Amino acid sequence: MLRKRKCRYCGKWFRPLHRLKNRQIACFNPVCQAIHKKTLDKKEKAKGLRRLNSKDWQKEHKVWISEYNKIYYSKRRKEILARKKEWYRRNVQE
Ligand SMILES: [Zn+2]
Repeated sequence: MLRKRKCRYCGKWFRPLHRLKNRQIACFNPVCQAIHKKTLDKKEKAKGLRRLNSKDWQKEHKVWISEYNKIYYSKRRKEILARKKEWYRRNVQE
């Protein structure tokens, strides 16, 4: 189990996702997530790194994107989402 961290936006304590390790700075509150996303967008815009949305990047990674979409919209995704939900239910305390 990872150590609890303080949310940068609301100041509450939360357990970061294992996958994200030390990179997660916002808790699971949808409001904090939204703020966090906005901040990230701003940061990435400033750096010119919005590659997922950039036309050039999409052109170069057509295969990757199509593969990604296959997975993203497949049955397996439903399974993954269900598993995620279950995980949240068990591990994320309000
Ligand atoms: Zn928060």
